[in-house]
Amino acid sequence: LTKYFQRAKPILEKLEAEGYEAYFVGGCVRDYLLGRPIKDIDITTSATPDIVQAVFPSVIPVGIEHGTVIVRHEKESYEVTTFRTEGSYSDGRRPDHVEFIRNIEKDLERRDFTINALAMDKTGHITDLFSGRRDLKQRMIRTVGNGEKRFGEDALRIIRALRFSSVLGFQIEEETFAAMVACKSAVLDISVERITNEMERFFAGKHVSVGINYLKKSAVQTVLPVFKEHPTLIEAIPQNMKPLLSFAEVIAFFHYHQPEIAINEWAKEWKCSNRTKRLASELNDDIKRYKQRGLDAIGIYKLNDERFEPFIRLADLLLDDKLSLVQLIQLKQRLPIQSRDDLAINGNDLLALFPDKKPGVWVKHLLEKTEDAVVTGKINNQYRDIKEWLEWTQRETD
Ligand code: ATP
Ligand code: MG
Repeated sequence: LTKYFQRAKPILEKLEAEGYEAYFVGGCVRDYLLGRPIKDIDITTSATPDIVQAVFPSVIPVGIEHGTVIVRHEKESYEVTTFRTEGSYSDGRRPDHVEFIRNIEKDLERRDFTINALAMDKTGHITDLFSGRRDLKQRMIRTVGNGEKRFGEDALRIIRALRFSSVLGFQIEEETFAAMVACKSAVLDISVERITNEMERFFAGKHVSVGINYLKKSAVQTVLPVFKEHPTLIEAIPQNMKPLLSFAEVIAFFHYHQPEIAINEWAKEWKCSNRTKRLASELNDDIKRYKQRGLDAIGIYKLNDERFEPFIRLADLLLDDKLSLVQLIQLKQRLPIQSRDDLAINGNDLLALFPDKKPGVWVKHLLEKTEDAVVTGKINNQYRDIKEWLEWTQRETD
C-alpha cells in the first residue's frame, strides 16, 4: 500500500475491530492501480452512519440520509459511506431512496463503471466482481450491467463516461457508447450543477481530444446548456483540442468563436459562480487586447497572476501563439509598477491636489489615467513628477 492508504488504514482497522467490513473503494482504487496520483480516499463499510459516528471521535455528518459521514483522521478527511443500494434519480438530483445493506456485492453493483467498482481491503486485496481490472488493462469504460438501464437510472453517468474518457484517455466500450447515444435526452432533466461539475473536468482532461471525439460522435452536446441552442458551437473545437483547466477558460474559448453568445448567458445557463464569470470576461478582454496590440505594457500590467497560465493556454488554442510563462513574468516585473498599490499617488492625494473638486468618479478616472501614464513610461512613478503632470493635464482639459 502507498503512504496515503497507510495513513487511512487505521480507519478500516477500527471498523473491523468493531465487527464490520470496510474497504477502500471507487476512484482511489482505480487510480492506485493505474499508478495515477490519488486525490481522495473513499471508504465503504457495512457499519451504518450512526455507528460510524459513534466509533470515531471526529466526524462530520455530510449526507447521513445517503449513508455518508466524513471521518477526520490525522488532519485528513475521509468519506465513509455505508454499503447501500439506490433507486433511480427521478428528479435528476438525488436517488429517490437508498437502502443500507449488509454485503458489499450490491454496493459495487450500484456503481457506474467497472473501473469504479473496485474495492480494496487493508492488505491490498482487491474485490473485483465486474472485471474492472481487465477493463483498466484494456483502457475501457464500461457500465456495470446494462447500459440503457444504468443511464436510465441516472443520466449524469453519460457525462461521467465522457469525463473519464477525457481524463484517462480510455475508449468507451461499444454497447456502453450505444446506450449513451440512446439515452442522451435524459441529460436534459438532470441538474445543471451536476453537469457543470463533470464538464469542467471533461474540458480539463489530459486526453481531452479523446473525450471530444466521443462527445461529437455521440452528439451529447445537443443536450448540454448553450450548445443545445447553438448547434454550430461544437465546430469551434479543433481536432487537436488541448485541456482548459477552468470553466472560465472554457467560456472565454467559446465566446471568442461565437461572441454573440454573451458571457452572462454562459454563466447563467451553466450556473457558474460570480468568480468564474468575472474571470471569463477578464480573459476575454486579455485575449482581445492581445490580438489587437500584442504584448503591450498595459496588457501585461492588467494580467494578474491568476490569469497568466489561462491566458497562455488560450493564446495557444485561439491564436496559435506560444507564449512562455517565464517571459510573461519577466515582462511584468520590468514594468515601472506591478499594481495600483505601487503607484506613488493615491485617491486621497488627488483630492488634496484639487481641493475645489468634490469627491466623485473623476478620482477613479484620474487614477486610471495616471496608472496608464506610469505603466507606459510617460511619467516617472515619483510623487512630484506625477503632481506636475496632473496639474498640467488638468489645465489642458479645464
Ligand atoms: P474522481 O474522484 O477521481 O473524480 P471518482 O471515481 O472517485 O473519481 P466520484 O465522483 O468521487 O468519482 O465518485 C466516487 C465513486 O462513487 C465512483 O468511483 C463510483 O464508484 C461512484 N459514483 C459516483 N457517481 C456515481 C453515479 N452517478 N452513479 C453511480 N456511481 C457513482
Ligand atoms: Mg472521488
